[in-house]
Amino acid sequence: MSENPAPESSTPTSSARLFVEAALGQDVVVTLPGPASHYLSGVMRLGVGDTVRLFDDRSGEWLARLVTVGRKAVGVVCEARLRERETVPDLWLCAAPLKRGRIDWLAEKACELGVARLVPVTTRRTVVDKLNLDRLRAHMIEAAEQCGRTALPELGEPVTLAMLLRDWPAGRTLVFADETGGISLVQAAKPGPAGILIGPEGGFTPDERTAIRAVPGAIGVSLGPRILRADTAAAVAVGVWQALAGDW
Ligand code: SAH
Repeated sequence: MSENPAPESSTPTSSARLFVEAALGQDVVVTLPGPASHYLSGVMRLGVGDTVRLFDDRSGEWLARLVTVGRKAVGVVCEARLRERETVPDLWLCAAPLKRGRIDWLAEKACELGVARLVPVTTRRTVVDKLNLDRLRAHMIEAAEQCGRTALPELGEPVTLAMLLRDWPAGRTLVFADETGGISLVQAAKPGPAGILIGPEGGFTPDERTAIRAVPGAIGVSLGPRILRADTAAAVAVGVWQALAGDW
């Protein structure tokens, strides 16, 4: 087999890829603030005329060229749209907050695995009371930058389990990961809007279990014969759902 050299390109694209809050568009000029400018000029050593790929979670991914490089900010202009924003399966991950390292990991995996929305849900046995949403979002952004995503999961405001169940949308399947047993997720996964609900390390209380199962469209599912840690359960459930009913 012959190895083909990479095709010559008149505008080599650097491997730098960043999420920006600003809305991007053809010829739009964006000023990238401190950390982004440090990354581009200090870490990636890019200068005026070099290119970077940007995405904004709205309009896809853009090839942008550096037009100004300062110590505190870098200015870029969007030259061409490289990709449209990807479509994401309509899957929510509703999970009880976990201790710092574990919830950060969960946010990262939620982004990598392609959930549309991550909703922190407080339950009776949730032990974490303060949740840093900015930090969670930063972990999702970093995962999206690295994994070539053009969409981020929406990060929902934390809600109590009672609120989540009260406001559960009609027509959205509630895939309830029940550590005491249920039908296999392999049987339960079906196309259409869905939300996976994962409990805290201490699990759900019997009352909570009853309330969840009373929601129209709720299906109690088992993730196998072994009890998983909550973060593992979340990643596995999303992966299995994606394979059977999502876009794998
Ligand atoms: N402390 C509990 C386990 C909680 S595991 C106990 O000992 O029973 C944390 C969460 O992960 C659970 O609330 C559930 O949502 C999910 N989970 C873990 N293992 C599971 C399994 N085998 N089937 C379904 N859900 C599971």
